[in-house]
Amino acid sequence: MKYQRLRNEMVDRQIVSRGIWDARVISAMRAIPRHLFVSEAMMDQAYGDFPLPIGEQQTISQPYIVAEMTQALELTPEDRVLEIGTGSGYQTAILSHIAFRVYTVERIHTLYTQARKRFDALRCHNIVTRYSDGTTGWREHSPFDAIIVTAGSPDIPAVLVNQLDVGGRMVIPIGDTARQDLIKLIRDPDGVRHVNLGPCRFVKLVGEYGWKEY
Ligand code: SAH
Repeated sequence: MKYQRLRNEMVDRQIVSRGIWDARVISAMRAIPRHLFVSEAMMDQAYGDFPLPIGEQQTISQPYIVAEMTQALELTPEDRVLEIGTGSGYQTAILSHIAFRVYTVERIHTLYTQARKRFDALRCHNIVTRYSDGTTGWREHSPFDAIIVTAGSPDIPAVLVNQLDVGGRMVIPIGDTARQDLIKLIRDPDGVRHVNLGPCRFVKLVGEYGWKEY
C-alpha cells in the first residue's frame, strides 16, 4: 500500500536516522496512519518532514517533533498520560499505542469532535477525550505518569506539575509566541529537574495558565 510505504520511509529517514532510538516510539510511528489525521486534500503530504494545517489556525506537528516528545516521556505500557492540545489526534494516537491510557484535552470544539471520530474509527479505545481548557490539567484522573503539552506556553503551569506523579515526566514548549524551547521536566522524590531539549515552534497554549488572549 502506498501510505504504508511512505510511512516506513518517513520513519527511516526522519526518525531513526536522526537518532530516535526508543523501539516503542519507532513501532508506534510505523503503525499509526498519519494520513488519516489530515484533510483528504493533504493526505499525500502527510508523511513529509514538516507540520501541516489542520484548520482553526492550528497544525499537526512535524513527525520528528512527535517522536522526540514521545521518546522524552519515557513511556511504558503501564503509564497513564495526560495530553494538553489534542489537535488532529495524531500525537494522541501515538501515545495510545504505547501507554495504558491517554487523557487528552482540546479547547476548540471542531478539532475535538474530529479527533474523537478518528479515535473511534481506528479503535483507539484507551483514549479519554475532553473539550475544555487543559491548562488546569485533569485533576480527577491525576496523578499522571507523564504529561505532554503540544502548544507553546509562557511558563510551566504549576497546577500541571502538581498533577504529575513522583517519578513522572512532562514535556512542554516554553517561550514567547514566535519561538520556544522544548523543556523536559522530571518530578523526583526531592524536587523537580529541568532539561532543555532545544528550540521548537508551536501554536499558542491559550487558557487560564497559558496565553490570555488569542
Ligand atoms: N498534537 C497535536 C497538536 C495540535 S496544535 C497534533 O499533532 O495534531 C495544538 C493544539 O492545542 C491546538 O489544537 C489547540 O487548539 C490546542 N490548545 C491550545 N490551548 C489549549 C488549551 N488551553 N487546552 C486544550 N487545548 C489547547
